[in-house]
Amino acid sequence: MAMQRRSRQRDAILKVFEVKGAHPTAEEVLSEVRKEIPNVSLGTVYRNLDQLCEAGMIWKIQMEEGPCRYEGNPDGHLHAVCPICGEIRDVWPSGDPIARDSLPEEFAEAEYRLLLISPCERCRPNA
Ligand SMILES: [Zn+2]
Ligand SMILES: [Zn+2]
Repeated sequence: MAMQRRSRQRDAILKVFEVKGAHPTAEEVLSEVRKEIPNVSLGTVYRNLDQLCEAGMIWKIQMEEGPCRYEGNPDGHLHAVCPICGEIRDVWPSGDPIARDSLPEEFAEAEYRLLLISPCERCRPNA
């Protein structure tokens, strides 16, 4: 029974990530999951998010400020953050966005996380 409840929570959490372009915080995941499972706690949501990250099913996005976000899209893309409203958007580079040739050889295979800081459409003065 406990096992069944755990997987139901997990399924409800994974469903939140089916929304295209969603990068929810743990609190946002909680409020979505509560629509389905009203008594779920924030601690449970964090525990499940950690497990899903470890399993490589979702990814954590460390923000410059504020709580971290979670990503459900495995395809390689970057994130742009609006410095005014904090909105996060997906950015799809047409090639490798860093010139690996310019890095010392030891970093040739390094993973990297880039955050582009740029006003979103709504916050851009002349949009
Ligand atoms: Zn904005
Ligand atoms: Zn993304």
